[in-house]
Amino acid sequence: MITIQDFLSGYGHQVQLWLFIGMFIISWNIENIAGILFNYKKWKHAFINAPFILTSIPGQLLLGLAFVKIIEWTAQHQFGFLYYLPFSKSSLVLFLVSFIFLDLGEYVYHIIMHKVKRLWMFHIVHHSDQALDVSTTLREHPGENIIRLSFTLLWVFISGTAFWILMLRQIIQAFTTLFAHMNYRLPDKADRIIGLLFITPNLHQVHHHYKQPYTDCNYGDVLSIWDRLFGTFKELPADKLVFGVDTHMGKEDTANFIALAKLPFGKYRKSGDHNKQHKSYIMNEGCATKL
Ligand SMILES: [Zn+2]
Ligand SMILES: [Zn+2]
Repeated sequence: MITIQDFLSGYGHQVQLWLFIGMFIISWNIENIAGILFNYKKWKHAFINAPFILTSIPGQLLLGLAFVKIIEWTAQHQFGFLYYLPFSKSSLVLFLVSFIFLDLGEYVYHIIMHKVKRLWMFHIVHHSDQALDVSTTLREHPGENIIRLSFTLLWVFISGTAFWILMLRQIIQAFTTLFAHMNYRLPDKADRIIGLLFITPNLHQVHHHYKQPYTDCNYGDVLSIWDRLFGTFKELPADKLVFGVDTHMGKEDTANFIALAKLPFGKYRKSGDHNKQHKSYIMNEGCATKL
C-alpha cells in the first residue's frame, strides 16, 4: 500500500503546482467579490507580476536538483539534528518539529533580506507592489528566488528534513502565501483568533505598508508566533494602509517588469529619502487608485 510519505515524495511537486493554480483562481475570484482595493487595473497589474513565473524557473530547476542531492546525502548519513530527537521514529513528531524549524528559518531569512542592504534591493521588488493582491505572490526577483531557496537548502541540511516533509510544508506554504497576499481582509474577530498562530492577510498587509516601522514587522511565513516572540509583531487598521515602499513609489521604478528586474542593481535608498513629489502623491491620492 502506498503511504502518504511515498505519495508526497513521488507527487509532491505536482500536488503543489496544481494546488497553487487552483487556489490562485479561487483567490482571484474572491478578490473580485470581496476585495479591499477596487480602483486599480487588476489585469494590467497582474501582467506586470506574471513574468516572474518564468524568470523563477532556472533557479527552481537548479536548486530543485540541489535539494534532491542534499536530502539523499543527509538520509544516507543520518545527518541533521532531527535524527537525535526523542520520538524521531514518529512521523507526526518529525513533521511538526521540521515544520516549526523551517518556519523559524523563513523568519530569519526574511529579516536578513530586510536588514542587509544589497539583499533588501532584491526583496524590494516584492515590496514595491502598490496594489497588494494574489498576483503579488508571483512578484519575486529571480535573484531573490535563488537566495531564498539557498537558505531553505541550508535549513534542510542542518536539520536533515525528509523529502516528504519538505513537500508537505511547501504545499501548506503555497496555500498560506496566497492567502496572506489576497486583496481581502478577515473580519477583526476571525483575524484575532487565526492571527494568534498564523499569518493572516490583515497581518501581512501591515508588512506591505509603505513606511517604516511597519515594513520591518510581521516577518512570519506561515506562523505568526515568531513575530510575537521576538517583538516584531504590529497591527494597523485598513484605512491607514498604503502599499509599496516609500523609497520606490515612482512609476520609473515600478511601471513594468524590466524596471523591476533592474531594481536590485540600482542605488540603495534610505527610508525617508524619497522624492517629495511622490510623497504628496501618496498622501493626497492613495496609491491604489493610480496604477
Ligand atoms: Zn518583506
Ligand atoms: Zn509579501
